[in-house]
Amino acid sequence: MDLPFACDCGKLRGTLLGVSPTNGTRAECYCHDCRAAELYAGQPDPAPGGVQVYQSVPDRVRFDLGEDQLAAFSLSEKGLLQWQASCCGALLFKTARTPKLPFVSFRTDRLEDDNPLGPIVARAFVRKPNGKRGHEGGLKFMFGFAVRALSRRMTGLWKQTPFFHADGTPVRDIHIVPENDRKKFYPARS
Ligand SMILES: [Zn+2]
Ligand SMILES: [Zn+2]
Repeated sequence: MDLPFACDCGKLRGTLLGVSPTNGTRAECYCHDCRAAELYAGQPDPAPGGVQVYQSVPDRVRFDLGEDQLAAFSLSEKGLLQWQASCCGALLFKTARTPKLPFVSFRTDRLEDDNPLGPIVARAFVRKPNGKRGHEGGLKFMFGFAVRALSRRMTGLWKQTPFFHADGTPVRDIHIVPENDRKKFYPARS
């Protein structure tokens, strides 16, 4: 199924191509990085809830309108690339720093209708009753990621991505959030 998505204000629009519950993994992430990215982008605080994502591959992403609004930042020198709409700040995708690791984590809140993706099958970094964090459905998550990435590498489909140029550099300059700003968005270390 092809599913249209848009940033909050509607300037940046695109389509997730040929997605289904079986060729991607719907998940919810409770990690500090996901939350920090939302806060840095000026979005509502997801805590204590998680951030809803659909793990898929870059060749299933097409931008249709307002691509000039696309911007990217990273919470650290080696962190994931956070792709957002500069018009309203909405976060849309996370990717690796290289097209050779072909995965995208898409924020499902940006879909008009997220039902075709099926139910959430994995939860990452959930706080357990004992206070520690753990994963539910983690294997499904990792296995799906590995299978999809490997198939993209073998078929050459990994080169088909709206996030990177043919030489492997990102299509946008990556703003690295300075350490001092970054700290504001993480819980104090105890
Ligand atoms: Zn996360
Ligand atoms: Zn927008």
